[in-house]
Amino acid sequence: MAFEGLTERLQGAISGLRRKGKVTDADLRDTMREIRMALLDADVNYTVVKEFVRNVREKASGANVLEGLNPAQQIVSIVNDELVEMMGDEATPLNKSPKIPTVIMMVGLQGAGKTTTAGKLANKLKREQNARPFMIAADVYRPAAIQQLQTIGEQIDVPVFELGTDVDPRDIVRQGLDAAREAKADYVFIDAAGRLQIDEALMQELADIKDIAQPDEIMLVVDAMTGQNATETAEGFNERLGITGVALTKLDGDTRGGAALSIRAVTGKPIKFVGQGEKMDDLDVFYPDRMASRILG
Ligand code: GDP
Repeated sequence: MAFEGLTERLQGAISGLRRKGKVTDADLRDTMREIRMALLDADVNYTVVKEFVRNVREKASGANVLEGLNPAQQIVSIVNDELVEMMGDEATPLNKSPKIPTVIMMVGLQGAGKTTTAGKLANKLKREQNARPFMIAADVYRPAAIQQLQTIGEQIDVPVFELGTDVDPRDIVRQGLDAAREAKADYVFIDAAGRLQIDEALMQELADIKDIAQPDEIMLVVDAMTGQNATETAEGFNERLGITGVALTKLDGDTRGGAALSIRAVTGKPIKFVGQGEKMDDLDVFYPDRMASRILG
């Protein structure tokens, strides 16, 4: 599971404090140094770690932790609050258009989980809100992507609009949106193309699709297994497209997990969902407080 190493290290750092009768300033400094190293080793972004440690220190001295009855417990509580804040405080719901359809554009690097996450989200909306989702296959560079979206569509019983791989994705999106309106869909997912790396041609295509579709949500799908690169990717997509939310995938894998802690702080955009498996049910709303509890163990 994600975060195992981080949990162990944070617990180790704090248990050092628990063992002491009286905690000194130097003890606290040692603990903070260990927490800092644990976060860095878990792939949390350097600037984010610096700010995290500074905030915890400030709160600890403001609360006169060393004078209190149970310094270790107080530190745990401050670290917990700071983790929650760093990950966005509260769960952020999917954006919704006042009139149907709500358009959700899925973007991200190839293999991040865009197609799968579009299916999972459509499935969730259908099951929980009785919604009528609709999906548009706009990734024409990876022929298997269209087939994959169709298979998912059949599995969850959601219509998929496709025009093969020879039509310009901008036209696919225009026609797909018309078809979605005609079908009275209330949520439209655009499965846009990805690349192995961010490049200008891809960004231009995505910017054009954004202009055409005027999406209510630009959901960046990020693979949690990619570590530090995850934050760089998020910054790149955000600068160019102005993402509105993040879906973090593969948190069921053996990732160090620091990306989850950094993305919100680096981009200012909320993580809205987490993928925790390959099945259509394996998508959860992201709750910063629950994630913090999971990290602290
Ligand atoms: P795309 O290229 O961004 O559309 O990525 P895909 O949706 O094709 O996903 C790439 C691979 O990652 C597929 O094998 C998915 O089943 C897998 N995948 C996606 N999300 C998750 C997740 O949350 N957990 C796990 N274990 N695998 C995932």
